[in-house]
Amino acid sequence: MGRVRGYRRKRSYRGFFIFLFFAAIIALVYFASKSDIFEQRMPEIQMPDVSYWNPKREMPIVFRDENSIKEYSIIAFDHSGSKVLDIKEVVLDKPKEVKINLPIPKLKLQEGERLHYVISVTDWSNANFFSGNTQKKELNLVIDSIAPKVDVLASSFAITYGGSALIVFKAEDENLKNVVFSNGVDEFKPFPYIAKGYYAVLVAWPIKNTSFSPTIIATDYANNQTKYRVAIVKRTKGYRKSTLKLQEKNFDQVHKMLLQIGKRDPNSFANGESKFKYLNEEIRSEDESEIYQASNSFQIQMIDHPLVFERFYPLKGGQVVGSFGDARHYIYKEQNISNSFHLGLDVASTKHAPILLSNAGKVILEKKLGLYGNTIVMYHALGLASSYSHISKFNSKLGDFLQSGSILAYTGSTGWAFGDHLHFGIIVQGHFVRIAEWMDSRWIKNNITNVLQKGEKIIKGQMK
Ligand SMILES: [Zn+2]
Repeated sequence: MGRVRGYRRKRSYRGFFIFLFFAAIIALVYFASKSDIFEQRMPEIQMPDVSYWNPKREMPIVFRDENSIKEYSIIAFDHSGSKVLDIKEVVLDKPKEVKINLPIPKLKLQEGERLHYVISVTDWSNANFFSGNTQKKELNLVIDSIAPKVDVLASSFAITYGGSALIVFKAEDENLKNVVFSNGVDEFKPFPYIAKGYYAVLVAWPIKNTSFSPTIIATDYANNQTKYRVAIVKRTKGYRKSTLKLQEKNFDQVHKMLLQIGKRDPNSFANGESKFKYLNEEIRSEDESEIYQASNSFQIQMIDHPLVFERFYPLKGGQVVGSFGDARHYIYKEQNISNSFHLGLDVASTKHAPILLSNAGKVILEKKLGLYGNTIVMYHALGLASSYSHISKFNSKLGDFLQSGSILAYTGSTGWAFGDHLHFGIIVQGHFVRIAEWMDSRWIKNNITNVLQKGEKIIKGQMK
């Protein structure tokens, strides 16, 4: 029995050593795979996602690896498939990141030339039989070094502080990405007009901006940009400044108003002044941003003929009871507690007078607002909208398309209004503008209709 037992013990020792041997190999493979020596993580190539390139502008390429970078290569081919660039760099100091600018082939590059780049990077890993991990990316670029060409064809002669103007222009580029008009603060979207490459843009010099720098900014896909300064005469204009003295009873009115609006408990304010400020500033700005948003959600579509606008005249025989641009300063106990701009025109006629639409348009907002009360916003064309507030009764529905002469609604005193009247606003791409201009047939003819017609004539002449 003992011998048999001894024999067995010998066999189990050998088995133990065989087990140890394999365990050691498994552990070695395991640790090698866990260490960076054989890591299989790919290096990264970071580059801009573009298809057009002005070689005068640097195109940054970043190679990155968690371990370290050993080498990279950049090869480029032209449109015919000939190799025009072949660079290979070995990086000795084992960095985790290498930043370069995309190299340019040493030949004269034609405008529109197509280059095909093959970029690859290898790390210091011993994986893949000690050759490292290689990442490869391809890049197709069209050479574009010419900036867009901008030319104004027709425009309003002047713009008044708070008012509007129209510009018809041309923006030419093989790879035009986008065109905007900037007044120095706000941007306006031009509408394609008559033919491809031509635009019409209705712009504003909002009362909140002290300066006006009319500039057309055209950018192509290679990020070449042209900033064209539009020659337009700037006219200053003084607006009324009113000082309104508040009394305790005004705060009681505000209290009732806030109860109606229902957004915040009027008892939650420390005093009458803060209650007043909340209504005059916060509720006002909430209302205005609803009007801005609705009026600024129009679609940009090609306009293929000169548009004609009629003068706005929403209330027959209406009397002006509050002017546009009035800077209102509210005083309580000798202290200025709140300020606001009156961005519309107040017109009053008989009680519940019909409000007439002067230019065809679509109902884009019909809502009970806080301070503005029941309000309608109509979208006309070319980014132009009009707004009607304090309405007693709507006579149209959201989304309706209405003809000029339609009865939109009836005047009233909803919202914060003292007496039945219409608060009327004209909006250019989300900015309230001077109403006097849009109620004046001669101003509309000289600044809008004629400019569109003159622009059309020049465009059609250039197309021949
Ligand atoms: Zn008003």
